[in-house]
Amino acid sequence: MSLNIILMGPPGAGKGTQAKILEEKHGLKQLSTGDMLRAERAAGSDLGKRVQAIMDAGQLVSDAIIIEMIEKRSAEADCKNGVIFDGFPRTIPQAEALGAMLAKKSAGIDLVVDLVVDENILVSRVEKRAAEAAAAGHAIRNDDKPEVVVRRIKEYKAYTAEVSPYYEKKGLLHRLDGMRPIDEVAAQIAALVAKAQ
Ligand code: AMP
Repeated sequence: MSLNIILMGPPGAGKGTQAKILEEKHGLKQLSTGDMLRAERAAGSDLGKRVQAIMDAGQLVSDAIIIEMIEKRSAEADCKNGVIFDGFPRTIPQAEALGAMLAKKSAGIDLVVDLVVDENILVSRVEKRAAEAAAAGHAIRNDDKPEVVVRRIKEYKAYTAEVSPYYEKKGLLHRLDGMRPIDEVAAQIAALVAKAQ
């Protein structure tokens, strides 16, 4: 039986770390639509060229493009045990298309985890990291620039505000305190997975 999880949380909430733990424990595959789009751009593909300007303007890529990309990718062999969706779905049509796509395989979303973190702490954490990098004479990573982080947190809030009520109504949404230690959060997710299976 496959297990399909949606992992939500702003940058810095520990999504990557928790996804890795889930991948190792359950043989799942993390699919980040943002990473997939960046890979298309880096490869200079037609799709990459089509989404370039939209992404640089901080807008959402069309539902049709995203859905097609996810549908193709999740049909590959490494997704057979299930997927951890990251950065997707961001709109209700995407959530509905995902449900329909999984239903065709007699599957569905089993669990939605939202890692909740204190925004102010998040920004000050990133500011500290940037200040340390500057003091050491290193370049500051583009996505560690405070203004970029603030924008990405805003984007995240906008799309969770749209999508989380959809899953909440279905009784699938679980909000966890992402400020807790990694092991503790992992144990809470593991308990939810055990119940969902
Ligand atoms: P992320 O790394 O998830 O913040 O995604 C980077 C950018 O890719 C976003 O700002 C959007 O332009 C685009 N993107 C990623 N995932 C989606 C999605 N599910 N729907 C629409 N656009 C997306």
